[in-house]
Amino acid sequence: MSYVFNPAPAASVPVVGRAERFPARRIYCVGRNYVEHAKEMGFTGREPPFFFLKPNDALVVVPAGETGTMAYPPLTKDLHHEIELVVAIGKGGKNIKAADAKQHIFGYAVGLDMTRRDLQGEMKKQGRPWCIGKAFDQSAPIGPIVEAAKAGDVENAEIWLQVNGKDRQRSNVNKLIWNIGETIEHLSAAWELQPGDLIYSGTPEGVAAVVAGDTLVGGVTGVGELRIRIA
Ligand code: MN
Repeated sequence: MSYVFNPAPAASVPVVGRAERFPARRIYCVGRNYVEHAKEMGFTGREPPFFFLKPNDALVVVPAGETGTMAYPPLTKDLHHEIELVVAIGKGGKNIKAADAKQHIFGYAVGLDMTRRDLQGEMKKQGRPWCIGKAFDQSAPIGPIVEAAKAGDVENAEIWLQVNGKDRQRSNVNKLIWNIGETIEHLSAAWELQPGDLIYSGTPEGVAAVVAGDTLVGGVTGVGELRIRIA
């Protein structure tokens, strides 16, 4: 096969303890999936889960033990962090039941759903798509993927983020409104999941702004840590 120009390199994420990488396909994100975060965004109650996507070339892959770099993006004065547990799909399917979801999961990673909150807010107000607030270049930092069997009790793991050494977000994955299985059930009813899909499962409360020079360190117990500096 030949192309009129070289195709973009395939996005991929390292897998802890393995030479083979995880080829990344789509990035699905769940909105407002922790009660206290829904409240801080002005919402209450358990609404059905909703989704948005980021392009897979928005990933900023940070290898284990390293500090990644993310450029402060243009057009915003309010860049927010959202620490999230990321679910990596290893086996595709549609209309997957929550009870069967685990067999579709390859592993887990720590991710940041970086958000131009001012632009997202403007789009919300106007009823327009969130893309400019959510799906910008370098908006999806991610650490290495830990295979499911080695990840421990992810459903009850602590999830946290510090900025410059100070706590910003600290909660537990068991506070998800829609747990991982339920999220996969809803998502796979709307799209056929494929191996390589990544699901950013939502962020707990405490989202706030970062500026150039800040260092973000976040983690999920049993999955690992993600460290990144805003340049
Ligand atoms: Mn998010």
